[in-house]
Amino acid sequence: AFINTGLSSAQKTQKTANVTGTFGACRLYGSADIYNCRYFLFQLWFVTCSTDYHAEYNRARKALLRINMSVNLPINIEQVKGFLAEDEANALYQHSLILSEKAPVLEIGSYCGKSTIYIGTACKNTGGVLYALDHHRGSEEHQIGEEYHDSALYDSSVEQVDTFKEFRKNIRAADLENTVIPLVTTSQLASRGWATPLSMVFIDGGHSMEAAMTDYRSWASHIISGGVLAIHDLFPNPDEGGQAPISIYRLALASGLFEEIEVVNTLGLLRRV
Ligand code: MG
Repeated sequence: AFINTGLSSAQKTQKTANVTGTFGACRLYGSADIYNCRYFLFQLWFVTCSTDYHAEYNRARKALLRINMSVNLPINIEQVKGFLAEDEANALYQHSLILSEKAPVLEIGSYCGKSTIYIGTACKNTGGVLYALDHHRGSEEHQIGEEYHDSALYDSSVEQVDTFKEFRKNIRAADLENTVIPLVTTSQLASRGWATPLSMVFIDGGHSMEAAMTDYRSWASHIISGGVLAIHDLFPNPDEGGQAPISIYRLALASGLFEEIEVVNTLGLLRRV
């Protein structure tokens, strides 16, 4: 119940106190009104808890921003290949720091492990775990002849991109082997039969509409209430980048299941209501 509600242990205690109070108040009413009274107070309690939770979350995030908490990484992150700006990386780190003790975090699209190292270091600090999902065969733009192809990440013996070796090396160098659980498979296959609630899902996988939609549909439902859906590469202007990530971002907002927390550079962060 704790994981599903996404409440801290202090709030859980508060919740218990409120419920006890509710039942106490019910005794003041005649038996005919007891059900309605309980129901009303339950709703009131629920709304209060939700508001408290969101307020607390925002306070925690602001506190982290105020002290401009520098991420202390056990590796020179400049040496790790990837496409993540520093402000986006810091935001991922800070949100993971707030959330990752509640439930595991999942990232989709690890590539060589840059975002994995930021999120993983936060998870390590809280005693959480990070599932790092990537088939490691490269996205569309990493294939031979495409804009982001890197010949150093190509395995000619199987004529395929292979970023897993590089990923593994970086995770080991960052001392995250006891925090990060690599899932070397497709998003679709990993989601089949998945039942673990997640405190945060970071979508940064394939940028085709089909890939982005698969990621959203497969994983958004596993995010706990109060948890975060983070989506990378949002480009409101189509001239600046592909529209698949921002399409699923808008879809999530339109569903009514998510509300916007903030957008940092091209990283969008939504809270599961
Ligand atoms: Mg990206």
